Parts: sequence; structure tokens; C-alpha cells
Amino acid sequence: MAALATRIRVHSTKSLCRCFSSKANNEQTNPVRGMKDRFGEENRRFQWINDKGSKIASRYGFDQITTPILEYSQVFERTLGDSSDVVGKELYSFEDKGGSRLTMRPEGTAGITRALISQKLYNDLPQKFYYSGPMFRHERPQKGRLRQFEQFGIEVYGQSHASSDVETIEVASVFLKSLGLTSASLEINTLGDNASRQNYKTALKEYLSNYTDQLSEDSVNRILDSKSPQDIHILENSPVLSDYLSEASKVRFAFITRTLEHMDIPYIINPRLVRGLDYYQDTVFEFKVTSPLLGAQQGTVLAGGRYDGLVEKMGGPVGVPSIGWAAGLERLSLLVDDNKIPLTARPIAIIPVPDRGGSFSAEPDNNKNNTPSVMALHSHAMSVGAALRAKGMRVEFMHLTGSSSSKSQLPKQLARASKMNASHAVLIGTDEMQKGVVTLKDLDKTEQQLCPVDDLVRTLSAQRPFRC
Ligand code: ATP
Ligand code: MG
Repeated sequence: MAALATRIRVHSTKSLCRCFSSKANNEQTNPVRGMKDRFGEENRRFQWINDKGSKIASRYGFDQITTPILEYSQVFERTLGDSSDVVGKELYSFEDKGGSRLTMRPEGTAGITRALISQKLYNDLPQKFYYSGPMFRHERPQKGRLRQFEQFGIEVYGQSHASSDVETIEVASVFLKSLGLTSASLEINTLGDNASRQNYKTALKEYLSNYTDQLSEDSVNRILDSKSPQDIHILENSPVLSDYLSEASKVRFAFITRTLEHMDIPYIINPRLVRGLDYYQDTVFEFKVTSPLLGAQQGTVLAGGRYDGLVEKMGGPVGVPSIGWAAGLERLSLLVDDNKIPLTARPIAIIPVPDRGGSFSAEPDNNKNNTPSVMALHSHAMSVGAALRAKGMRVEFMHLTGSSSSKSQLPKQLARASKMNASHAVLIGTDEMQKGVVTLKDLDKTEQQLCPVDDLVRTLSAQRPFRC
């Protein structure tokens, strides 16, 4: 404390303020880099995308699952593979006060697979889940790339037939179409079974050993997934996985592509699509969109694949086949056409007008001589609002401003009602209350009429342009 006092004395007040203000204030008022506050229109858009996904997934028999944001670090380190970008560079990990090593989930699959094992859900296969929520990766923030971002995804456990791969891709395709993203193109590939991948890795390592001084990484898996132009150039002439596929893998992949054709789901085979060899096997796929709204490297809006070995790798039973995908909501939200999002219902403004007609008592709770009190007027107006809400209408009660509650603030309240795009204002003064009516003002036509309270719901339902 003494040391602090000495230091403070040598600063002028002005420089001290500057000292405290800049960084400290920024950190106090700004969100963390790569993380965003979301509200208003953008939040409605996210909600709409999530609703579309949930409805479509439940039509295919998926159930919602919610798992914690924090998991023991091992959940991700053991499953995503040490060589993946996510584990190598992007994890938000820390030690908690009890000394446990925890990680904020960078994706959904590992946590959901952990839940399948902890809750013994594998005893009742198949299990089909959909999920949504925030994920965390320490990446360089760009358009469509954040450090906290949201995903909507699905996972299927206990179905191994290639038709289940097709159905999983079909859900993705229906989901993206429902958002109006008809131009998203499906790229698909097979990584083959274990034997195919081992043969390929050996050949690839041999090829890459000629370029070690020019490559951005030393890991084969990362090179395959690399976005560096130099790596991509070197890979142009590398061996391709399709030349190393076993017969069974080829037959399986042919079933998938032919069935997609039958189902009118267009695709492009991209023999260089790998998505990290550790995690996936057989089918991998991505839906891509080319748009100036997304950064050059953020064209993939949805990605997934088959990961049959994961349940076993995480300590669950052997032989639980699994497949899934995840879509990035920030990227989808940038692409969705605003016209697709349904308009929110316009509110109805309820305006108490204490000094309008009749006499009233300024005493808040005085009801002597049958003179209505301000409090009685407010509770009456609020119950009119409650009756409209009970019928599903959106109602904004226009509270008086300041401490005075006995003087009308009608012009200001009407201006506020118009600003919030209210379709009608319901004016309730002492006279109206005593007669059991309200003054109903159509704010688009600037017309008004007296309307019995009991008839208000019917009248508004007939007149309003947008209903809930
Ligand atoms: P990318 O190649 O763009 O880094 P990824 O392969 O790391 O993506 P996945 O782990 O497959 O991504 O996640 C599925 C989807 O989640 C991606 O296709 C993308 O739409 C979205 N996504 C991934 N990382 C981010 C991020 N940092 N910010 C916003 N969305 C993201
Ligand atoms: Mg990434």
C-alpha cells in the first residue's frame, strides 16, 4: 500500500487518468478479441437457423443433446489427434482452482461421444443427436472466423451401413436448402478403411520427404489440411488416396455416390478432401459456398464425416460406428437472405393516460368517493395488456417516465410507440376505464375508435397486419 502511494504521488492526476483509462478501460468495456456481443436482428437470425436445424433433425428422428462447455482436456487431446490444428494451436485450456486441466470445447463431437459413454447410451443403439451452442478456438479472427463461434450439428451412433452416410448428408442438404442456400456445393471423398489409409500415409510420407525444407509443418496430417499456398502447390503432384483404396472401400463409396445421384443431391468428388486422417475414416464431406461475404478461407459452411473408431478410442465399447457433421452459424448467418427471416409481430402499445377526462385521485392508492386512483388506472391498463398477451399478441406497456405518475405524457408515448413500429395504441384514461372502453388508435392510418374492452381482442385480430 505504501509503495503504491509513493508511486501515485510522482504522477500528475492527468497522466494517472490516462494510465488507468486506455488499456484497462478497453478491457473493461470491449469483448475479448474474436468474441462478439450478439443482439437484435443478428440474434433473431441465429435463432431462426437453429430452429430450422432442430425441426429438420427431429423429422429424421434426432433428439436434442446438451453437453457442458467445459470438459477435461483429455476429452479433446485424445480424440482430435495431437497433430490437428485444433489441438496443436487452438485450444482454450487452463487449470481450475481444484487443479483439474480443463478445456473449453472447440467442437461438439468429442463431448457428445464422451456423454454417450458416461451415460451408457451405447446400450440402446442407434442414438441420434442434434446439438447447438458456442465453441472456442484460439484462431486469427477474420470474416466468418471467430474465437467464440456457434455450431449446429448432428451425430449418429450405431449405424454402419453406407445408406446412413447418405441420410446424414441428406439432412445437411435439406437444412442448407431450408435456409435458402441452394448454391452450397457438396464435396465428398472417402478416406477408406484402416488398411487403405495406412498404405496411403506411407506413400505420402515418402513423397513429402523430398520437400521437408519447403513445407509449413512436419506433420503429414496437417499438411494435407493446410491452407498455405506453398503446401497446396506441393500437394498438387502428391499421391492421391483414391489409388490406395481397398476393394471394400471402393464399393462402399460407389454405393454412396450412386445413391446421392438417385436422390438428386449433386456432389463433386474432391480426392484431396481429407479433414485430418486421425479422426475420420471412410466418408468425409463439406458444403462450400463462394461468396464475398465470407473470407477466402471461410467458404466451408458445413463439414463432417464418419468416425467409427472414436467411441472405442475414448474408452467405450468396441465397434460403435458413428457419423456426423457441424455447421458454422456465423458463416450461415452472413449468407442468409434477410427476406427469409419471418418478421417479428408488431407490438400493440398500451398507454395509460391518467389525466384524460373524468376526475381521478392523484393519491396513488386513494379510492375514496369512488374516485379512481392512479394505481387503479394502471392496474386496469396492465390487465388489458395481459388479456391481449394471453391471446398471443405482443404488447408493450408504455410506462410513464419520471416520478410523476399522474400527468399524461401522451405525445411522447405515441412517438415512442411509432418508433418501436407498434401497429396500434390502446389509450386508457379514467373516463374510458369507468365506461369499460378503450380508445383504439390505428398508428398506420392515424384513425381512432372507441372500443369496448371485451371486444378489443376480436377487433385487433381483425385489423392487425401481422399476428404472432
Ligand atoms: P476451417 O477449415 O474453416 O478452419 P474446420 O475444418 O476447422 O474449418 P470444423 O471443425 O469442421 O471446421 O467445423 C465445422 C464448421 O464450423 C466449419 O465448416 C465452419 O463453418 C465452422 N467453424 C469452424 N471454425 C470456426 C471459427 N473459428 N469461426 C467460425 N466458424 C467456424
Ligand atoms: Mg479450423
